Amino acid sequence: MKKLLCTLVLAATLATALAGCGAKFTCDLCNEEKSGKQYKEEVFGQEVIYCADCYEDLQNLGDLFD
Ligand SMILES: [Zn+2]
Repeated sequence: MKKLLCTLVLAATLATALAGCGAKFTCDLCNEEKSGKQYKEEVFGQEVIYCADCYEDLQNLGDLFD
């Protein structure tokens, strides 16, 4: 049982480490699998993860309303 716990902790640590160095993620805005920089935003209490492309799009969109 203790060994299982150790494995779980190790796996969680590894997953966190991988996420920190360009692991693949699915962008919530364009639904494409991306790697590299990811942006997080909380919208209506829900965490939204999006890619650099969508981040740029959002920036451009924001400029329109300035
Ligand atoms: Zn995207």
